[in-house]
Amino acid sequence: MKNTEDIPEIYEIGQLPPPGIVPKYMYAQVLRQNRYGEPINAFSIEKIEIPAIADDEVLVAVKAAGLNYNSVWAARGYPLDMIRLMKLRRETNVDFHIIGSDCSGIVYKKGALVKNVEIGDEVVIQPAWYDPEDPWIKNGGDTTISKTSRAWGYETNWGSFAQFCKVRYFQCLPKPIHLYWDQAAVYMLSGPTVYRMLFHYAPNIVTEGDVVLIWGGAGGLGSMAIQLVKLAGGIPVAVVNSEEKKKFCEEMGALAINRSEFSHWGGLTSEMLKPENQLDWGLQAKKFMKKITHLTGGKLPNIVLEHPGENTWPTSVYVCDRDGMIVTCAGTTGYFCSFDVRYLWLQRKRIQGSHYANLQECIALNQLVMDKKVYPVLTETYSFEELPIALQKMHENKHKGNIAIQIGY
Ligand code: NAP
Repeated sequence: MKNTEDIPEIYEIGQLPPPGIVPKYMYAQVLRQNRYGEPINAFSIEKIEIPAIADDEVLVAVKAAGLNYNSVWAARGYPLDMIRLMKLRRETNVDFHIIGSDCSGIVYKKGALVKNVEIGDEVVIQPAWYDPEDPWIKNGGDTTISKTSRAWGYETNWGSFAQFCKVRYFQCLPKPIHLYWDQAAVYMLSGPTVYRMLFHYAPNIVTEGDVVLIWGGAGGLGSMAIQLVKLAGGIPVAVVNSEEKKKFCEEMGALAINRSEFSHWGGLTSEMLKPENQLDWGLQAKKFMKKITHLTGGKLPNIVLEHPGENTWPTSVYVCDRDGMIVTCAGTTGYFCSFDVRYLWLQRKRIQGSHYANLQECIALNQLVMDKKVYPVLTETYSFEELPIALQKMHENKHKGNIAIQIGY
């Protein structure tokens, strides 16, 4: 093995030393508080010292990184200034943030206690970060509700938009050998999130013939949800904002609706629900409901996969079937979600919050990918330097499926 004195202190993007040799510095797409704003202006490529790792940590050379919407939030510093928050929590001692919650790569260094991977292993990274010493977790509690639970690469530093990232050992899962690096980089955040939303909350889990309404069917969560619903024998109904995206979802096997044909979006007010006014909104919403039943042969969604938030909640609660579940993991269009509660209680519907997934669910989803039962929907790959352009595109909702950036190859 070469001495570390013999190797360059930094490698150019696209190059890497042999596995096990770690240079002193790396290039990273870095966020700083004075640049928070539109993703296109929020990053700068900086030379950063590669962090040391603890005994239970792994240093991974990033081959490709996947973009997720949480990077839009981080770049904007909105709704949370994550650098400030990490400092308040005493979880960072630097003034910058290297984000990125999805990647594929190679193990370059591991802590003394790490047993599940070896130097040179090809891995994908799942972003559930937590303290395994948390008593709640040690007593068998679900990691997603541990107080130490963090979204790696959003709530933590040393994410995947850099030549090297730092993770805890349990975040490393085997990379499916049939996938290219960029394909492997884009499914470990959206896949397990949707897997849990569809299969965790018994009795409301997808089974044969169940209709699932999927908002944003052509997006990261949506494109994975379509596949998982189909795999379970369910009927995915994808909602999108254009004919192009509608076709994209139909090609994946979903029934699809173009939401731009309807006008009842946005929050409800108590004024709108007064008996003399309620038909205005109700007639529009009914038109949307009829579109669903027209496509499904009369069935309403047993599960509504929510994430747009404010703009879609009144409709989600309205169209969900009796005894069904509206399961949510986000509020992309706003957090002030309103609905007519009569539809909830009279028809015994359930509202369920969901946030990422536990390790078993991550492993199960990765196994489905390894078995070629579901696949990452990669639509575009950009260069490392183009990250801000790619993320801006996601912020403006001009993308379909998932986007990767190429780093270590
Ligand atoms: P994405 O790829 O950008 O897809 C989001 C989709 O939302 C878009 O394709 C868009 O579809 C739809 N959308 C946007 N504005 C809308 C509106 N006004 N009404 C209805 N639909 C609208 O993002 P993603 O990766 O799927 O993530 C979606 C959200 O989930 C983000 O906020 C993300 O942070 C969150 N998330 C949370 C977790 C968690 O564990 N809590 C995990 C992953 C993601 P159309 O415009 O075509 O309708």
